Amino acid sequence: DKYCLDNLLSQLTSNASLSSPSAQTPSKRRGNEMNNKVFILGSFNVDIVSTLERFPQPGETLHALSNNIGAGGKGANQAYATAKAGANVTFMTKIGKDQFSHFAKEHLATTGINNTIIAESDNSPTGNALIYVCQQTGENMIAVHSGANTEITQQEIIQAEQHIVGADLLLTQLENNIDAVKRAMQIAHAHGVSVVLNPAPYHNETPSLLEYVDMVTPNETEASLMTGIEVTDLDSAKQAAIKISQMGVNKVVITRGAQGVLLYENGRFSEVAAVKCVVTDTTGAGDAFNGALVAQIVKGDSLLDAARFANAYASLAVEREGAANMPDVSLVAARL
Ligand code: ATP
Repeated sequence: DKYCLDNLLSQLTSNASLSSPSAQTPSKRRGNEMNNKVFILGSFNVDIVSTLERFPQPGETLHALSNNIGAGGKGANQAYATAKAGANVTFMTKIGKDQFSHFAKEHLATTGINNTIIAESDNSPTGNALIYVCQQTGENMIAVHSGANTEITQQEIIQAEQHIVGADLLLTQLENNIDAVKRAMQIAHAHGVSVVLNPAPYHNETPSLLEYVDMVTPNETEASLMTGIEVTDLDSAKQAAIKISQMGVNKVVITRGAQGVLLYENGRFSEVAAVKCVVTDTTGAGDAFNGALVAQIVKGDSLLDAARFANAYASLAVEREGAANMPDVSLVAARL
C-alpha cells in the first residue's frame, strides 16, 4: 500500500499551513475556538445503478432502461456535503488500483474537497455497489463490496495524524475497518479534536468506540440497535438518546427521517421539525445532514442552529435524485 504521489504533494503543501500539534492543546480546542477545518475518514464506493422495468430472474438477461455509474460511499458523500457547506475539508479514504481508481480520483477532485488523502490497496478493488432499481415499484436490490474501504492500515492513519490534529473536528462512519476508525478517533480525542461518529451502518463494536466520541448521529434504526430500545416515535427516541448519553457520549443527535431531528445535550432535549418538501429520493439524506451539520459546527454555530441548517440542507437533498448529488447551500436560507 502507498499514498498517491499527488496526495503526498498536496499533504506537503497543506502541511505548511497546519499549526503544530503542540500549538493546539486540548484546552484551547475545548474553549470553542474553531478554524473551519474538518477531517473526514470514510468510504468511497462506485455505484453502478441499473434501472429496469422489472428485476431479472436467475439466469435471465434483460435490457436495462439505463445503466449509470456514480460516486458513493458515506464518507465521500459526507465530505462532499461538508465542502459544499463551506468548511475546509480533508477527506481520507482507501481505493483499489483498478479501473475505478481514476474515477474515484476524478470525482474527488471535482467536489470542492480541499485536501484528499487517498491510500491505495494492492489487493482489493475500489469499493463498489451493484444496484438494480425496478422502475415500476421503485424497489432496489443491492450487492455491495467494501473492497479497499475495509483495508485502511494503522500506519496509514498514523501518517495522516498531522491532518487529524490540525482539524477542529473529526467526522467518521462505520464503512471502514473498525481498528482504523478507532485509531483516528483516539488521535483526535487525545488532541482535543471533537469526534463526531455517524454510526452507520451499525456495527456490533460501536459501543467500544463511544469513549472517544463527543457527538453521535444515529438514525432511528441505528439508535435502536445501539440501545435495544425500538425507536418508533418521539418518546422512544428520547429514551434511546438518554441511554446513548449514559454510554458516555455528551451530544446525541437522532435523525428521524420525515420527522426531523431530536437533539440531546447536557440533559436537555431540542427538536427540529423536518422541512415539508417534495420527496424524490431519500438515499443519502443522512449524509447531507451529517456533512452540513459538522460544517456549521466548525463555523461556530450552536448544536441547535447547526441542526436547523443541516435539516434544511437535507430536505433539499431528498428532493434530488442520487445520494451523491449534494445541493447548493445558497438554497438553505429560504428553508430556515
Ligand atoms: P439515508 O440512510 O437514507 O441516507 P438516514 O436514514 O441516515 O438516511 P434519515 O434520518 O432518514 O437519515 O434522514 C436524515 C435527515 O434528512 C432527517 O433528519 C431530516 O433532516 C432529513 N430528511 C429525511 N427524510 C426527509 C423527508 N422526507 N422530508 C424532509 N426531510 C427529510
